[in-house]
Amino acid sequence: MKSIHDINFSMKTAFVRVDFNVPFDKAGQISDNSRIVAALPTIKHIISKGGACVLASHLGRPTGRSKDLSLSKLVPELEKLLQTKVLFSDDCVGEKTEKECSGLNPGQIILLENLRFYKEETKADEGFAKKLSRLADIYVNDAYGTTHREHASTATMAKFFEYKCPGILLENEIKSLQKLMNNPERPVTSIIGGAKVSSKISVIANMLDVVDNLIIGGGMAYTFIKNNGGSIGDSIFESDRLEDCSKIISLAKEKNVNIFLPDDVVASNEFSNSSLKKTLKINEIPDGWQGLDIGPSSAIKFDKIIKQSKTVLWNGPMGVFEMSSFEKGTLAVAKSVAETTKNGAFSLIGGGDSVAAIKKFNLQNNVSFISTGGGAMLESLEGKTLPGIKALT
Ligand code: AMP
Repeated sequence: MKSIHDINFSMKTAFVRVDFNVPFDKAGQISDNSRIVAALPTIKHIISKGGACVLASHLGRPTGRSKDLSLSKLVPELEKLLQTKVLFSDDCVGEKTEKECSGLNPGQIILLENLRFYKEETKADEGFAKKLSRLADIYVNDAYGTTHREHASTATMAKFFEYKCPGILLENEIKSLQKLMNNPERPVTSIIGGAKVSSKISVIANMLDVVDNLIIGGGMAYTFIKNNGGSIGDSIFESDRLEDCSKIISLAKEKNVNIFLPDDVVASNEFSNSSLKKTLKINEIPDGWQGLDIGPSSAIKFDKIIKQSKTVLWNGPMGVFEMSSFEKGTLAVAKSVAETTKNGAFSLIGGGDSVAAIKKFNLQNNVSFISTGGGAMLESLEGKTLPGIKALT
């Protein structure tokens, strides 16, 4: 795979697939611009090397043209962040758009209309991909969040270009994952949390080939505890996943991976921030009570393991961190990860909820790398080759 630094952008136009699928507040203002900010290094690099940029993204899940999901709404924010004029094409393919793109001078930037206004985009339609490819000389993919999707702009169109590469953001994502998956500094600890075993079972199974320690917290821990014969009261639990838990435990033994489950929990008599709370042993939760966070001894146990690690992956919160009564376990793990990073370990945080948690606790600058891809990150950790990355090789 070529690096962006190996490509000569001078007097050339680059099609840059970005992820500008940003959230809006009720007043129609962008409520979080981090996806736009994340793409700036690539855009600035191409411009500084004498190229022009055609920016393309999807926004939401339109079923046809819709004013609400027009990317034109992003132009003022892009202009503010880039401190330069940004042109807009009210389509993403066709004669008019082709003319607008071929007329770009070095240093100019044009944003295309929402790619998903065409159903051909998500269908990975060859003809549509070919039309997109007519807009530029070089293909750059910087949208890690959509690399697990085989769409026209994220995968299919790459084959029509001689020169193609990942953008700076995507290159950093690939490098961080390689640092974890290929020859990581040991010990390697993976902290997996979140609501369900079912959504992360393939990740856990694949990570057993990589890690020395596996910490399991959050809602998914209760299925493991139940499988071990514990009483979990009304805690979240997947009865059809008990066998998977047994398999993971025996596979871990075979591969010499230490599994750590919580010993205690903060349980509540209701799923509410203001309900009664008590700290209980995780395998002695009475009916009518549910575990909503890991308890203090578990946080201390996990801290020791995290601090001994040289490489740490964290995906998924330890409890219902969105409620202040049940955020302490996730906060403790976030602090342990930050501390071990300060002491020289490499830490990689991924998945929407752990990223939201680390931002909530304002520790986002105290870890090595925060991944921008939820589903893409999970599929990478499952060991899958992502279509958007494969298309660049
Ligand atoms: P996931 O998307 O699978 O990573 O799950 C994240 C969600 O799991 C968060 O919204 C948490 O509130 C939720 N969660 C974590 N621990 C628990 C728990 N013990 N009981 C119920 N939900 C939980």
